[in-house]
Amino acid sequence: QTIGAALAETTSRHGDREALVEAASGRRWSYAELDAAVTGVARGLLAYGVAAGERVGIWAPSSAEWVLVQLAAARVGAILVSLNPAYGADELAYALRQSGTSVLVAAGEYRGVDCRAVVRAARSGCPDLREVVHLGDASWTALLTAGERAASGAGGGTGRGGAYGAGDDELAARAAALSCDDPINIQYTSGTTGHPKGATLSHHSILNNARIAGSLLHYTEHDRICLPVPLYHTFGMVVGVLAAVSHGACAVIPAPSFDPAATLRAVERERCTSLYGVPTMFIAELNLPDFATYDLSTLRTGIMGGSPCPAEVMKRVIAEMHLSEIAIAYGMTETSPIATQTLLPAADESALLTLRRRTETVGVAHPYLELKIVDPVTGLTVERGERGELCVRGYSVMLGYWAEPERTAEAIDAARWMHTGDLAVMGDDGYVQIVGRIKDMIIRGGENVYPREIEEFLHAHPKIADVQVVGVPDEKYGEEIAACVILAPGARTLTVDEVAAYCEGHLARFKTPRLVRVVAAFPLTASGKVRKAVLREETVEDLRG
Ligand code: ATP
Ligand code: MG
Repeated sequence: QTIGAALAETTSRHGDREALVEAASGRRWSYAELDAAVTGVARGLLAYGVAAGERVGIWAPSSAEWVLVQLAAARVGAILVSLNPAYGADELAYALRQSGTSVLVAAGEYRGVDCRAVVRAARSGCPDLREVVHLGDASWTALLTAGERAASGAGGGTGRGGAYGAGDDELAARAAALSCDDPINIQYTSGTTGHPKGATLSHHSILNNARIAGSLLHYTEHDRICLPVPLYHTFGMVVGVLAAVSHGACAVIPAPSFDPAATLRAVERERCTSLYGVPTMFIAELNLPDFATYDLSTLRTGIMGGSPCPAEVMKRVIAEMHLSEIAIAYGMTETSPIATQTLLPAADESALLTLRRRTETVGVAHPYLELKIVDPVTGLTVERGERGELCVRGYSVMLGYWAEPERTAEAIDAARWMHTGDLAVMGDDGYVQIVGRIKDMIIRGGENVYPREIEEFLHAHPKIADVQVVGVPDEKYGEEIAACVILAPGARTLTVDEVAAYCEGHLARFKTPRLVRVVAAFPLTASGKVRKAVLREETVEDLRG
């Protein structure tokens, strides 16, 4: 099924039910209204001459319009290029040029930055870019108006619009010509190791990943999903928006970008049943001074994922946020995104769902996906219980990195296994633990040290709200272990001796941090993930200074 067909089906079944809410503005759409609004934007794209397979960029923080553009692009068979709103002009130009984006829908402003000026600066380097539309200004209205004119048979619009004549026949023809294996989305990874890579995903991969993730959470049309995670990433656009669309549930956008208080307020006011987040988001919500005043009693499920989920944080979320059935999900942009997920009780009738499984593992393989864990050097599958690189194969693995066959071949081998770069262990019960990323591993005096293990241990320290462990260069040991700590409310200091005393007898000496750095916040990506490489650089600088 294509995304357009899924929206049409849900609209015919649940047309009167709420589909989309923008909590900050109070704007809301039923499925019938959403379908009509998407049609309006789709007609506008046709009037602007967007051909099937052409790239339509969206460069904006979360909003209802983001969702309209996402679904409209799918309906006309365009490939949506989702761009990080935090990009500067050079990063934007690179992504637009690399993807050959021809029509860009951009915000007017993002966190005080004038997006029009950034687009103007980027534009000269993007020969394929022929139309730029800024949300909320006259160019957006012009796109909708061009669509209306084309649909009413008057033709016209700007660009090559006149060529399509009566737009709605064209929309129907596009839907008929679409295949669910067609690419639908290019998502750039954060690009820690060079230029970002454009993971290219199909209707089939993202729609089914959304459907399965939602089924494992037992979604129905009565669910209301709170989405503080950004839409430009698969967590928001697939596991959020498309899971809602495929189950007739409602997607609630609490704020344009992450705001812990706005998130809990949206849960309360919109009576959300499900809450998503990366761990840093849940930590920020739990640490709000007025946390106890929010009514979270409507919550029943949700997903924590996207980066390592400390067991201590999971336990607090389960106990304090009324989220007794929250799942952990693991995945990556390249796998659309979810590869493993916690099974909730009804799906795991044998009552195997111990607290340990729920808090210390990332669940089991998603249905229709294969997992294997290999020795990163020999490539041979390791025994159960041994660590190695996690590989994923199946429908949700990306088509490839856009226009980069060499990098695609490095990530996906000849047998179609996606090599994740993550180290994992699979137990006899099939539950998977993520040990860390291969590239984050610290080698101290010849010993391999996984930051994740130390972070997990330190999370339980009463003075620590959040902690990240990085390796810094050391003359004697090659690398030394540094703990960067955000103090818990009420704590003033944390010394290296206190940390050493806490680790004594619990953590091997060679894993005990020799450096402790108290920070106010970690450098984060726009999706709320810790930028470890940046944190490592900052720590090295700090130690030098
Ligand atoms: P880049 O590939 O550009 O370096 P990235 O890998 O952070 O960026 P994403 O695709 O957003 O980009 O993130 C996928 C990665 O996030 C996984 O490879 C894994 O390291 C981490 N991750 C995701 N979910 C979990 C989880 N539940 N537990 C531990 N790690 C996770
Ligand atoms: Mg990655």
